[in-house]
Amino acid sequence: MLNDIQNVLFSEEQIRHKVAELGETIARDFEGRNPLVICVLKGAFIFMADLVKNIPIPLEIDFMAVSSYGQSTKSSGVVKIIKDLDVTVEGRDVLIVEDIIDSGLTLSYLIDVLERRNALSVTVVTLFDKPARRSVELEPDYKGFTLPDEFIVGYGLDYGEKYRNLPYIGVLKPEVYTKP
Ligand code: 5GP
Ligand code: MG
Ligand code: MG
Repeated sequence: MLNDIQNVLFSEEQIRHKVAELGETIARDFEGRNPLVICVLKGAFIFMADLVKNIPIPLEIDFMAVSSYGQSTKSSGVVKIIKDLDVTVEGRDVLIVEDIIDSGLTLSYLIDVLERRNALSVTVVTLFDKPARRSVELEPDYKGFTLPDEFIVGYGLDYGEKYRNLPYIGVLKPEVYTKP
């Protein structure tokens, strides 16, 4: 697996610092609001776990799984809810935790769903942002790193369901995509 990585973009240490910083800001902003923190599976699962450890205020968590990509590296634009929330969002301050915003299609669909379910507020934190590739207007409330148009893996993010377990963020060698 390590042989498939061309270079490391963000080390464990860099990610840890950024996540701690995000958590601190979010904790300050959500103090006294008991937010419902929603992890968008699967990509955000590691970020979510590390993030909430850095938000030392009362909160609740839930999970939602959506799919828009299949095996490709580009969004199809068709978003499907694979696993829905267990709890109702009505009247709740909701914080969506995303791994990465690319076209923005997945997230704008999710925001729409949660607003239609009458969430009191919908806030978005993403660890990575690729603003150059946006096809809908969407600005996250909190973001970790801004990326150029490059496909990354690791720290929860996959290519063909692999590489999620890498503790850092890396870029794959081009031949990985062209392998039969
Ligand atoms: P969007 O709907 O914004 O185009 O896509 C968002 C989803 O696509 C992310 O949550 C993530 O699952 C996937 N995605 C977008 N860019 C990347 C990337 O660079 N690497 C990986 N592994 N997944 C990505
Ligand atoms: Mg995601
Ligand atoms: Mg994926």
